[in-house]
Amino acid sequence: MNKIKILHMYADMLDLYGDSGNMEIISYRCKMRGIECEIHKYSIDSEMPDFSAYDLIYIGGGADLEQQHISEDLVKCREGIETAYKNGTFLFLICGGYQLMGKYYRDADGVEIPGLGLFDYYTIAEPDRRKRCIGNVVIRTEICGKSVDVAGFENHGGQTHGVETPLGEVLYGHGNRTKSSHEGYFEKNVIATYMHGPCLAKNPEISDYIICYCLNRNSGTAVELTALDDTLEKDCRQVMIDRLLKN
Ligand code: GLN
Repeated sequence: MNKIKILHMYADMLDLYGDSGNMEIISYRCKMRGIECEIHKYSIDSEMPDFSAYDLIYIGGGADLEQQHISEDLVKCREGIETAYKNGTFLFLICGGYQLMGKYYRDADGVEIPGLGLFDYYTIAEPDRRKRCIGNVVIRTEICGKSVDVAGFENHGGQTHGVETPLGEVLYGHGNRTKSSHEGYFEKNVIATYMHGPCLAKNPEISDYIICYCLNRNSGTAVELTALDDTLEKDCRQVMIDRLLKN
């Protein structure tokens, strides 16, 4: 079936640095290939959806306050999201969304926001609010058997511990913790990252990995995506990477 169904959660609350743009990128790259892309939104007070009916669940980033606001509602979705994940629905998670799929996020005041505990990592913010990981970030990741340098922008106080399968190795910036060697969390059907940007606008390989995963899962066969002309995206990214790594 040439169609992808997406659930974008808390778009009204978790949308730092244009994180919602990631869904525009997925939808654009699908459209260019004649793949239908249906995006539904879910937020506090929405009717409980059938999470397993979606190919992709997306959650963006947000400040501590927004994370607190959505936390009670998110916990109510735990069973549905966990079942969907176990059935193979793809989870794409940015920053605050990334943190809340782990065991917990403890903010700078020591207030603990429960995560869904889907993964073993946990996040603790530095008590000193001035100590944040802020700035551009470049990581080297292995995606579809290829090594790709991915660029983004991070801004988090949270220090994520206990990640065993990171998204990539940090070439510039902080990553999961201050001056960490690794960034994000990666599984076949999960990409979680601190990279805003929005991340997918600069990194077409990640978008295509997600699209490809969803189509393969639906069709049960290995789908080959039509190549798109990504010269502009890749050139822009390279300018940024060169600027950061060559200085
Ligand atoms: N509130 C979290 C932190 O500061 C997440 C921030 C974000 O989503 N950029 O660690």
